[in-house]
Amino acid sequence: MSTLEQALVRRIRIAGPLTVADYMAEVLLHPAHGYYRRGDPLGAAGDFTTAPEISQMFGELIGLWCVDQWMRLGEPPLVRLVELGPGRGSLMADALRAARLRPGLLAALRLHLVESSPVLRECQARLLCPMLAVAPEWHDGFAEVPADGVLLLIANEFFDALPVHQFVRRAGAWHERMVTVDESDHLAFALGPPGTALALLSPDRRPPPEGGLIEICPAGLSLAAAIARRIVAGGGAALIIDYGDDGAAGDSLQAVSRHAPHPPLAEPGSADLTAHVDFGALAGAAATAGAAVHGPVAQGDFLQRIGIAARAATLAERATPAERAAIAAARQRLCDPGEMGTLFKAMAIVGVGAPAPPGFA
Ligand code: SAH
Repeated sequence: MSTLEQALVRRIRIAGPLTVADYMAEVLLHPAHGYYRRGDPLGAAGDFTTAPEISQMFGELIGLWCVDQWMRLGEPPLVRLVELGPGRGSLMADALRAARLRPGLLAALRLHLVESSPVLRECQARLLCPMLAVAPEWHDGFAEVPADGVLLLIANEFFDALPVHQFVRRAGAWHERMVTVDESDHLAFALGPPGTALALLSPDRRPPPEGGLIEICPAGLSLAAAIARRIVAGGGAALIIDYGDDGAAGDSLQAVSRHAPHPPLAEPGSADLTAHVDFGALAGAAATAGAAVHGPVAQGDFLQRIGIAARAATLAERATPAERAAIAAARQRLCDPGEMGTLFKAMAIVGVGAPAPPGFA
């Protein structure tokens, strides 16, 4: 039994079952034993691989997307460039390199990294500090980012790490799905009493059939609303990329360890724990806060529209045959519907009246 499992079993015995959201938060962010406290989870030797780790093209194209938004916003002199959950910093390093095309943007930007992992903060500092005249600032949450200036925000595979609540429909009533302890002292799912935390359920959701399950991510909804409010007040654009759908997905809680599925309650803290992103719900929260939302569109379509073919061709010109094959394979992995192209979606939040950003037209 992992140290975190022992702590959770004890806590549940004393204080009662945890919501799935509380469980997720403990597993990922526990100050001593949380998953993101352990080390670098990314890459072939880690637990999962993300788009910016697959190819530099991903971050470069997003950098050009930011350049385009900065120009459309009238080249403002102070830009708060925010990345939520920057991982190793690869996406941002590639984006900043591409943004050298417009030195005015590099001079205007202040980089803000929202990151909970001390190990990943160190990776980000090593990679990004040498690229910038003004050192980046790290934050525990988006609310800490200074409110002045125009906002450009990037979040790749961040919202999937935010805790979700799960509710099951039984005999005409909602029950919150909880994490409790079974007779053999192991963590187990159970349903709470009817009516738990009903206030969290948005009133316009149609109830699913008997036994159906829905997920709600209050942390994601309030974050999308906060980003939208910042854009409405000071101008800017946000690009959110993640796996998920336009609506709620049913039970999408999943753990991954060493690139393979892992039971979500086994050895908590040893595996990444995520849920699919409900883009429709995020879009609703951002629109209610007064911003305009574009997408979600499939990641493959988004990357094609912002020029991945041209970028791959340029890179291939100076490449060896082996490198050329790797560039083609990476492009296929990012864009192919059978790989990341359809499961992953991109969504943009911009000011009302702003034209659709590249990739969303
Ligand atoms: N965007 C990166 C990493 C994705 S993994 C990439 O595409 O490669 C998720 C990232 O979000 C990690 O950097 C993780 O440490 C960070 N993270 C997860 N939950 C967080 C939270 N609640 N607050 C701040 N950072 C968080």
